[in-house]
Amino acid sequence: MRSLQSDVEQRGARIFELVDKHPERLFSKAGFYQRLMAFSMHDERFKTQLFQFVAVLPSLRGSSEIIQHLEEYFSDDNNGFSPLVGVGIRAARLVPWISAPVLRWNVSEMARQFIAGRNGNDVIATLRKRRTQKIGFTVDVLGEAVVSETEADEHAAFYGDLLEKLARETREWTDPLGKDAELFPVVNLSVKISALYSQISPAAPADAIAHVSSKLRPLFRRARELGAFINVDMESYALKNTTLELFKTILTEPEFKDWPHAGIVIQAYLRDSEADLRDLIEWGRARGTRFGVRLVKGAYWDYETTKSGQNGSNPPVFLQKPESDANFEKLTRVLFENNSVVTPAFGSHNVRSIAHAQAVADELRIDRSRFEFQLLYGMAGPIKRALVKMGYRVREYCPVGELLPGMAYLVRRLLENTSNEGFLRAKFAENVPAKELLRDPRELIKPDGSAIDTLKGSSHKNGASLNATAGHSFRNAPLVSFIYKDSQDKMQSALHEVRKRLGEKYPLYIGGEKILTDNLTPSVNPAEPTQIVGYGTEASIDEAERAVKAARAAFEKWRWTSVEERAQLLERAAGILERRRYELSAVEVFEVGKSWSEADGDIREAIDFCTFYAQQMRRLGRPKLTQQVPGEESYHHYLPRGVAFVIAPWNFPIAILCGMAAAGVVTGNAVIMKPSEQSIVCGAMLMQVFEEAGVPPGVLNFLSGHGSTIGAHLVNHKDVDLVAFTGSREVGLKIWESAGITRPGQRELKRVICEMGGKNAMIVDADADLDETIMYSIYAAFGFQGQKCSALSRLILLEENYDRVMERLIPAAASLRVGNPAEPGIMVGPVIDEPAYRRILEYIEIGKKEAKLAYQAKEVPPHGYFIPPTIFTDVKPNMRVAREEIFGPVLSVLKVHDLDEALEVANGTDYALTGGFFSRSPDNIERVKARLEAGNIYINRSCTGAIVGRHPFGGFKMSGSGTKAGGEDYLLNFLVPRVVTENTSRHGFAPEKSPEYRDEFLWPKPRQ
Ligand SMILES: Cc1cc2nc3c(=O)[nH]c(=O)nc-3n(C[C@H](O)[C@H](O)[C@H](O)COP(=O)(O)OP(=O)(O)OC[C@H]3O[C@@H](n4cnc5c(N)ncnc54)[C@H](O)[C@@H]3O)c2cc1C
Repeated sequence: MRSLQSDVEQRGARIFELVDKHPERLFSKAGFYQRLMAFSMHDERFKTQLFQFVAVLPSLRGSSEIIQHLEEYFSDDNNGFSPLVGVGIRAARLVPWISAPVLRWNVSEMARQFIAGRNGNDVIATLRKRRTQKIGFTVDVLGEAVVSETEADEHAAFYGDLLEKLARETREWTDPLGKDAELFPVVNLSVKISALYSQISPAAPADAIAHVSSKLRPLFRRARELGAFINVDMESYALKNTTLELFKTILTEPEFKDWPHAGIVIQAYLRDSEADLRDLIEWGRARGTRFGVRLVKGAYWDYETTKSGQNGSNPPVFLQKPESDANFEKLTRVLFENNSVVTPAFGSHNVRSIAHAQAVADELRIDRSRFEFQLLYGMAGPIKRALVKMGYRVREYCPVGELLPGMAYLVRRLLENTSNEGFLRAKFAENVPAKELLRDPRELIKPDGSAIDTLKGSSHKNGASLNATAGHSFRNAPLVSFIYKDSQDKMQSALHEVRKRLGEKYPLYIGGEKILTDNLTPSVNPAEPTQIVGYGTEASIDEAERAVKAARAAFEKWRWTSVEERAQLLERAAGILERRRYELSAVEVFEVGKSWSEADGDIREAIDFCTFYAQQMRRLGRPKLTQQVPGEESYHHYLPRGVAFVIAPWNFPIAILCGMAAAGVVTGNAVIMKPSEQSIVCGAMLMQVFEEAGVPPGVLNFLSGHGSTIGAHLVNHKDVDLVAFTGSREVGLKIWESAGITRPGQRELKRVICEMGGKNAMIVDADADLDETIMYSIYAAFGFQGQKCSALSRLILLEENYDRVMERLIPAAASLRVGNPAEPGIMVGPVIDEPAYRRILEYIEIGKKEAKLAYQAKEVPPHGYFIPPTIFTDVKPNMRVAREEIFGPVLSVLKVHDLDEALEVANGTDYALTGGFFSRSPDNIERVKARLEAGNIYINRSCTGAIVGRHPFGGFKMSGSGTKAGGEDYLLNFLVPRVVTENTSRHGFAPEKSPEYRDEFLWPKPRQ
């Protein structure tokens, strides 16, 4: 008996033989495209630029715009392609009306290589041609992610029309193999769930399933009537569990329970894939009707690894290519073994994977008419022909649609074709020998998993790095992924548990003593204002005085506690925050109306502040030699300032309070922290965390109470050396002013760290990617009800783009889910309290008078402080809605003539906190980077969501005193620098060299 490997090799050799009979280059279109691809395979930088250029091209309107972009992307490059581009640009300048359209035509042709037609009519012509070659089809509609329900409805209608058209046009078509035809209907449609619902949240599968199934049911029903097959494609990992659940849910419904013509995709590059497949098979058996599975490796590898790198989470995909290949083979066998309930399809261009599937089918005596190979339109033509010749069933995946919405698909194909690790490149561009290509992938897996190191952003250590910048050696805590049912369940049970203890009383904490008085202030749930989340003890002036005394006394000891001990305290606190993560998130949901993911983001940030400042203090805590000179050494180091008073806002109720307090404590100061009156319970929780972490009595004190009484008293206090404030401009400026007055007996010049509001602007360039612009702008303006100081409140549109953006922006806003954030997947919850509610409504009235109300949500929950998301247009820079901070879900849209005017408008307020720009023009991006006035500038992404260590956060002008929370110089605000110089020469004799760093100046020296 032949071994499987030799069988695979023989079959592979046969395929190659057939392929080589009609040799074809990797890319069937010759000339322009061939050359581009060849260049990009040899130059990574060129490849990136090329793909970025290709992605922007369809959205460029005029010839001059195309030429300008061509120049910006390529002209300064040092690769073999630049002379060609240079010639092109010169020609283009001379005759732009010829060369730009020619270029666009070339790129369109390149895309057409992968797109089977613009619409249903177009595609039919292609399908007919394939039919003569005995190749079947599955048609897919381009333009996956929709930003509004209007777009989702359009997509659903398009799928419906396409189905009708395909059924009509192919009525007479018969099965190419004439056998087992009942398993493989001629008409086959591939659908993507992200195209059918704009508000899919991985945390809320039930909501997604309800919405998507209402679109899928009519499609399934009609497909069944017409005898067609519907395949549900698999997209990014975030949608995977929802897609699987949706598939099982609909197909278990009585109407579809006995329908065998629906299929789903399993991506073998996912670590979960085997478990998912086995689960599906079990479900299928219980259902009692067969269903289809298309096995692929997966098209989003680059996206998944980049995303995980950014989120600090483990990638869901394998990291070595042969692992995906080997898993594909393993799952191939699972599919064949369960052939009685699954109709398998293998979506691959890899001859090894294909030959292996053929060999396993033969081994298990499965007739070749009972499964099919599926390949993409425009790729691997010779392999398709070879498979047909060998008597296999072949189906082609044919995308249909316009170029613009199809760019994401095109870029995925370009990446796949030029990937270093891809089969197609190896075979058709690099002529790797067949023997090599047919090796068993299991032999190629490196046991040490070394591919992990190649991942972006995955630094594994959190040690203090003396030389690298802060962000490089720091690893952020991963976000909780609500993709998993386990995380959803944990959050639900945390909400349940926290709900049970609503109404508890929380003490002050002074000098290690808990103080609970009758003077209590309720903190209410803004989504249900009759519900009291907890009572905070109202601190009096007496208690404020006690806190100062306790802090002062503790400071004298704490300042001489080693940096290492202080850093470890923060790390223990981080561990406790992690352990109580769901519970604390649940408290935030109730107390300040954050959605699940926003609340989790806040706890993550608190954890990051603790670990980051611990790391930074270890770096700063080591006295550093100022200059190497013989006979003398000078060490620069830092001392704590004294007593720090920390005043935090409610909008990041744990993170900001924690960040400022942790910075104070780790630098050796004693801290009095005061949470906002609206988030006392969150503050009290943080105090519990530090208490459990072992903060010594008096080093951290907790005073809840009114800013106007205890707040003002402590700001003015002679024994308070530092005030760290984050909050409104009004209060911030008062603090800044009064802290400037030196009081009798005061030891230090009071240091103030003042972080205030913003009136943040996002500029949208004429060539911006509108999918991204809309998605991020909506999130930045309406996420957490617009109550982040970084939130977008002014959208500045170039007039050229104005209509196109507005056409999509308003339906996107209208699609948002507004409701109680205790429910998963809610995007817009309540604003913090009644005064805020009234103030925002007043601003909306002002806006109605000043500008044009372009959109306001009609329905919001009747109870609770819900403000309907609102958009004003015709806003002029001098209007109040364009100048004043509203701190609610209200967006002003301003139209400008050009980028100069956009910058002038963006910079024309008192604030400079965050700002953003959507553009694909490298020159314009550079210009905005240089000229936009804001502490944090974000290009082509949301202007909210700063991450500790990566995006040190804080603004200037009236947004703040120029400090950067989560940045490497933040702790310096809590310290005073000192230099200690010693003459080390004795009678002319001196040590040769002084060490770069020395131990801390601590006396008595701590025992090791
Ligand atoms: C008909 C059809 C339908 C498809 N439908 C879907 C779908 O619904 N969802 C979807 O996601 N994809 C889908 N795909 C795309 C498919 O995932 C890719 O075309 C496929 O991954 C390419 O694999 P290959 O076997 O042809 O090539 P190969 O060159 O053998 O494999 C390339 C693949 O290996 C994986 N890979 C690359 N580098 C690494 C690495 N370092 N570590 C681990 N794995 C790596 C990636 O998945 C990459 O795409 C479909 C493909 C076809 C042909």
